[in-house]
Amino acid sequence: MKITMAHGSGGKATGELIEKIFAGRFSNEILDAMEDCAVVPGTAQIAITTDSFVVTPLEYSGGDIGRLCICGTVNDLLARGAKPKYITCGFIIEEGADTDLLERIADSMAATASESGVLIVAGDTKVIEGDGGLYINTTGVGIMQEGIDISCKNCKPEDVVILSGNIGDHHAAILSHRMNIDNTIESDNAPLVDMVEGLLENKIEIHAMRDVTRGGLGTVLCELARSSGVGIEIQEEKIPVDIQVRAFAKILGLDIMHMGNEGKLVAIVPGKDSERALEIIRGRKYGENAQIIGYVTEGAGVTMLTSIGGKRMVGELIGEGLPRIC
Ligand code: MG
Repeated sequence: MKITMAHGSGGKATGELIEKIFAGRFSNEILDAMEDCAVVPGTAQIAITTDSFVVTPLEYSGGDIGRLCICGTVNDLLARGAKPKYITCGFIIEEGADTDLLERIADSMAATASESGVLIVAGDTKVIEGDGGLYINTTGVGIMQEGIDISCKNCKPEDVVILSGNIGDHHAAILSHRMNIDNTIESDNAPLVDMVEGLLENKIEIHAMRDVTRGGLGTVLCELARSSGVGIEIQEEKIPVDIQVRAFAKILGLDIMHMGNEGKLVAIVPGKDSERALEIIRGRKYGENAQIIGYVTEGAGVTMLTSIGGKRMVGELIGEGLPRIC
């Protein structure tokens, strides 16, 4: 069935759209109440984040907009050390969208929410004129644990920089799809709950953490260095990159340091905890390729020791990058 403007009317067709595609799949006690807003328990400090997802294509190798919109929001909560608990989702659906596609995306959202341990507690659908497209906004709420202070401002000289795995996969998967290039590269879109839980449970002193998304590793490291008023020095040969992604980037002249990801994080930890933190991340879901890639210095900016023995400054992504990657 195709979505029509009637599905956005707020009347019977809207009710059927919500009922048939979303409500059952996201079912939980809080959502099922179908009130004007969700009421959830909470006494601690809470973390809140919101993000809109406009990725195209809606389905790609290794994922889809449904998995992406949960991962992106969950990972932003995790980056401050919050425990992700609740998600709201707003769907903007263009007329002509196929309900089979919407069902697959809702299934993917439900599965990723379940994997992440979050409940989808509120949602909204709107239908607009268009050509079968879909946009999703998700807001996430997490609970802060007491005594956790993870912030971009907390990097200190001699801290160690850990990267949780291969970079560039999401970017390469999306671009391969758009360019009709046949390869087996898959997006890395993944919720990083397990590895962050591992670090927190084992009392690793995390100074700063960021998920590495659009803008890539280079941009994230520059932002960390600037926020903390420090420098960061990394070694190119330590940065894990899939062999196919490396070849793909080389052919197209893409800078690995600015390629987008959706299931990777950078953790800045003191030297005393760095080996233990690396071991924990490697032992957790999606962390098997983690590496220590460098350390924090007293300088400024991000410097990379290149594989051929040179030294270059790493900048933030400037300009457009790849549009609609997330
Ligand atoms: Mg983020």
